[in-house]
Amino acid sequence: MKQCERCNRELKSQKSIDVGMGPTCKKRHDAEIAEAEFKKNQITMDEVVESKTA
Ligand SMILES: [Zn+2]
Repeated sequence: MKQCERCNRELKSQKSIDVGMGPTCKKRHDAEIAEAEFKKNQITMDEVVESKTA
């Protein structure tokens, strides 16, 4: 039996098993990745601005 990495519920579809988490958790996971990426890019841009003004 394969379980969701996020909520530990049993994964029933092959697609979910391949991904390692259920569709709802996958959406949340993707959103978190996108948000983390966005924040990382923002920090990078802030650093660029700071180094130019400094
Ligand atoms: Zn889950």
